[in-house]
Formats: sequence, structure tokens, C-alpha cells
Amino acid sequence: MKHLLMAVSGPSGVGKGTIVKTLIGRRADVVESVSCTTRAPRSGETHGKEYFFLTKEEFTTRLENDDFLEYDEHFGNYYGTPKSFVEETLKTKSVILEIDVVGALRVKEKFPETALVMIVPPSVEELENRLKGRGSETEAEIENRLARLSFELAQQDKYDYVIVNDDLERAIGEVEAILDGAYRK
Ligand code: 5GP
Repeated sequence: MKHLLMAVSGPSGVGKGTIVKTLIGRRADVVESVSCTTRAPRSGETHGKEYFFLTKEEFTTRLENDDFLEYDEHFGNYYGTPKSFVEETLKTKSVILEIDVVGALRVKEKFPETALVMIVPPSVEELENRLKGRGSETEAEIENRLARLSFELAQQDKYDYVIVNDDLERAIGEVEAILDGAYRK
């Protein structure tokens, strides 16, 4: 069976991380891509697990060698999706990128066969409650995330699949069905 490159996006707090991590824990034939970054590792982070930690020079060299499907700058550091890692892994497994809308659309430009999957909340109110319930963000951060939400949701029609996360198991099942080729666009 042909292996699939899938980019999973969705607003913060929508549960995309849980969906992706649960699915990967269950399936030996699917892995999550490991990005490269120039930021320093946080305590507990390992090279090759959370990220490939590179110096600015190493990142620039790889950029010049066209080894990123996409890259961006966040908080003064560079982050990129490594093309060689994704291409090598795709020979034996499907690869999931958990990536924002802008990054996902850039990947699709370079790799048109990428399946773009957006996870959306059942309603904006529901997501607002979920974000507040997490208790990990301040009021201002929640406002910020909600403002970004409308931008992200507005990009839905550029996506190949939109999955409503009102039921975790059903949402995981839908992502698996896409990976297994059960849905065709
Ligand atoms: P952190 O440093 O907290 O792990 O991540 C900071 C930001 O970088 C997050 O918004 C995360 O989504 C983003 N990020 C992580 N990896 C990549 C990547 O490969 N490409 C892009 N464009 N952004 C990334």
C-alpha cells in the first residue's frame, strides 16, 4: 500500500495532539514527523525525539540545500519540516505532520499529494469552554487564541478533510480511514 503524508491542523485546544498521539501509539505503520529547530532543548527534551536541535549555521545549510518542506520563524528561532526525514520515512510508513495552517498549505505546494486534515471543534463556544477548563492559559492568552481561531476556521475550504472532534474515538477512526484510503476526495 502506498504510504501517505498527512498534515493535521486545527485551532489550539481542539484536541489534535491527543488524536495524533493516540493514533500513533496504536499503529506501527504511522509516525509523526520530527521538526528541526534552532531553539535550545528544554529540560527533558531529546535530540531526534521532540525536535532535531540544530545550530543556526546547520539550519541555514539545510535550508540552502532545499531540505525543508516548509519553515518559519517563531520567537526568534527557526523551525522547519525536514524533507529528507519525511521522504525516507514515507518509503516504509505514513507520516503525520502536526502543523499550523500556513505551514500545511506550504507543504501542499511542494508535495501536492499531501492529505490536509483540519480538526475543528463542535462549536466555538465549546472550544472556549475547553480552553478555559484547561486552566493553562491566562485570560489574555485565551482571547489571543480565540482571535486566531476564526482565521484558522476560515481556511477550512482549502483542506481536503474536515473532522469534527465531538467524539475522540470517532475522530481518530476518521483519521485512520483517511490513512487507509477509505476516503477519496
Ligand atoms: P515550541 O518551541 O514551543 O516547541 O514551538 C514553537 C512554535 O513552533 C509552535 O507554534 C509550533 O507549532 C511551531 N513549530 C514547531 N515545529 C514546526 C515546523 O516544523 N514548522 C513550522 N512552521 N512551525 C513549527
